[in-house]
Amino acid sequence: MNTQKLKKLQGNLFVVLIICIICFIYFCNVKLVWIDRRPSNFWTYLYLIIFNLFSFMLAWSLIVTMFTDPGRVPQNWGYFLDDHEHKKRRYCLICHIFKPERCHHCSACNRCVLNMDHHCPWLGNCIGFKNRKFFILLLFYVNVTTWLAMFGMIGEIFNIMVSIKQKLGGDDTITISWFSDFLIVASFGVDITAMVIIGIFFKFHLDLIFMNTTTLENLDRKRNNSSSSPQPNNYDMGQYYNFVQVFGSNVAYWPFPFFLEDVQPVGDGVVWPQRVKTDTEAGLMNNNNSSAEKTNNTSHQYQNGYQENNMGNKQTNNYNSGQQQQQQQQQYQQQQQQQQQAQQYGQARNFNNNNYNGNFQAKQQQQQQQQQMGNGFNQQQYNQGYQQNNKFYRNQF
Ligand SMILES: [Zn+2]
Ligand SMILES: [Zn+2]
Repeated sequence: MNTQKLKKLQGNLFVVLIICIICFIYFCNVKLVWIDRRPSNFWTYLYLIIFNLFSFMLAWSLIVTMFTDPGRVPQNWGYFLDDHEHKKRRYCLICHIFKPERCHHCSACNRCVLNMDHHCPWLGNCIGFKNRKFFILLLFYVNVTTWLAMFGMIGEIFNIMVSIKQKLGGDDTITISWFSDFLIVASFGVDITAMVIIGIFFKFHLDLIFMNTTTLENLDRKRNNSSSSPQPNNYDMGQYYNFVQVFGSNVAYWPFPFFLEDVQPVGDGVVWPQRVKTDTEAGLMNNNNSSAEKTNNTSHQYQNGYQENNMGNKQTNNYNSGQQQQQQQQQYQQQQQQQQQAQQYGQARNFNNNNYNGNFQAKQQQQQQQQQMGNGFNQQQYNQGYQQNNKFYRNQF
């Protein structure tokens, strides 16, 4: 059996195990404790409704996280990268694509993943740009559910202990159903363990999101950091923008594990806005406090451009109109100076980005319509924001 198959089998076993654990806790709490041993009154029904609601959200998040593609790299996105050294460094020899920034090749999935956070063996899937929100929601619902189960079972655990004590004390009137008691105590133990582990894990991942970093980047930074020269995180745009890059800007959809066409993570997972490093900041990079202060200040510089991102259906346009537009124009100006700017743009689009962008003209029209509709999308303002990013993006390599 080759390594790839072995990894897949191992992944499947983990998935089966995690589903068994969830079902075990659910069965013991709902059936053995609340249905079999609790009186049928208002509080029992209320508890069961709440517990089932969160269990449903947990199951939904689990399925969606497992089956959502974590984010594929658009086939031809790297065509216009003009720096050969950079191209060489960013080329994945297995997938034969240029890896965008924050993209990594996952050896378990055997493919490149946009903004890869980590490969989760428990879910048999990578956590990346497109499913990170679902993963965080899964951790959140596991957390809530394990707490609810703990509160649901703790009274019964106490009853069981008292019964056993009386039985051992010689009270023969007490009857103990050893098997179901054992299952309840065991599931309680598993529940507490999951509650603690997932609780820590949830906190860790939420912190990463608020700092706009990933598990891999975090590891990388730890590895490369020395106390004398800590590496700054240039993607940190302030907590709110860091959060909407994963959860999307529509608060109403934050609790639900799905995206709609116009409710998406902010950005496209390929080009990432970075805060501008000022000269002063470059000099102060060794100072943590100053660096953090600058993050807050500089994030405002992006605010205007970034707000436009808040509308999820612009995410492809972001890529078109920002980073790549400039690169395309520069190349085509050199090659075909006699052509109009708009023609250059259209041709480049048709030639290169069939896989990624689809019909560019349709998008341009759509964009114009949206501007006419006055939906708050200010292209000029947005471009200014991106030009800054683009400048920085190109300078850094
Ligand atoms: Zn790859
Ligand atoms: Zn993976």
